[in-house]
Amino acid sequence: MRLIILLSLILNTISYSQSEFGKYFEDKTLRIDYIHAGNAAEDTYFLKELREEPYWGGSLVNLLDTFNFGKYKVEILDKTSGKLIYSRHYASLFSEWQTTDESKKITKAFEESVVTPYPKFPVVVKFYTRDRRNKLHERYTFEIDPANYFIVKDQRMPFDTMKIHYSGDHHRKVDIVILAEGYTADDMGKFESDCEKFKDYLFNSSPYKVRKNDFNIWAVKVISGEMGTDIPKPGVYRNTALGSSFYTFDVERYLMTESFFAVRDAASNVPYDQIFVLVNSSKYGGGAIYNHYSVCINNNQSEEYIFVHEFGHGFASLADEYYTSDVAYNEFYPVDIEPLEANVTTLVDFDKKWKSMVKPGTPIPTPAVEGNEEILGAFEGGGYAAKGIFRPRMDCTMKSISVDNFCPVCSKAISDMIDFYAR
Ligand SMILES: [Zn+2]
Repeated sequence: MRLIILLSLILNTISYSQSEFGKYFEDKTLRIDYIHAGNAAEDTYFLKELREEPYWGGSLVNLLDTFNFGKYKVEILDKTSGKLIYSRHYASLFSEWQTTDESKKITKAFEESVVTPYPKFPVVVKFYTRDRRNKLHERYTFEIDPANYFIVKDQRMPFDTMKIHYSGDHHRKVDIVILAEGYTADDMGKFESDCEKFKDYLFNSSPYKVRKNDFNIWAVKVISGEMGTDIPKPGVYRNTALGSSFYTFDVERYLMTESFFAVRDAASNVPYDQIFVLVNSSKYGGGAIYNHYSVCINNNQSEEYIFVHEFGHGFASLADEYYTSDVAYNEFYPVDIEPLEANVTTLVDFDKKWKSMVKPGTPIPTPAVEGNEEILGAFEGGGYAAKGIFRPRMDCTMKSISVDNFCPVCSKAISDMIDFYAR
């Protein structure tokens, strides 16, 4: 009896929350495109365009972000009542660029975009940026009337789509959309088999392998004029639909795109939560930014690792646990404050990180010596810094080229995020 009462309580909660969704939103997307510009010291937001898109891929229940990752936050408030009805944290290429040397010398503009379920009534939109100490500051606020006839409704990039893996209603699944980039019309057979291959890669890694039924994977056959991608240093430039390029921030392997509006246009062909751009290239590279997009190449001996590693950034905001590779960032994680990411710590506030998962008696910091490979502790080196930043285990998929090797802390962060989408 107790179980029945509990079950009906849970069901009531769910239906109540879903009716909350119906009270404020329609089951489609409002996309807010803006330009985010500035330099190392400051940033400004400029509204570009509002768009209506046909699908809402997100949850109907978890409308408020319960995580605190990412440099930015957007909030949607009902204008009449002032009630917060939707929120999401995220990061962007601009936030990373602000830690490069170039940002100390020039100002630059980046395409950014957020999506929310389509409001039924006028709303207030608030954009927040974090300061160096990770405190959020309101930076840009305006009102949107959903009846405004200037909200654009056309589909800019209509392409054929595929269901690569389907386990149910997209509102209760993590929906990944894979976008073809640098594939010509003649390459679409290859894109289809690539999508199957990368689906198998994702579900080859824990915890994804046991959570397979919480995912849908969609694909959009985006057709590019030319094969491949840009490789600026040797002067290779290709006409591709999503504008991807190696040498982002002048780091050879950093493969990203600055054409985020095109990425959103292509993704809107299906319901989605996470965007993966699959680039038709055999050169080692990729990249990903939390709740923004992830990128991987389709044909390289490290492709499985890159795909799963990058999705760790894009989906669960995991930090890189390596510290020896060449990157363009300066002091990406200040060592006097606790980073937001779940899998790195400065030990400034270790209680808020994975301390409770560490076996009592484990030395902190934990020495990276033979015999300690399987121990969970705090090993110095991570987040692009050899000193002052600590990682949970000696090795992890977020540290080195290794497959199905997430440390327990990364694994838990991924599972928590799946739970958020899968309700
Ligand atoms: Zn890890």
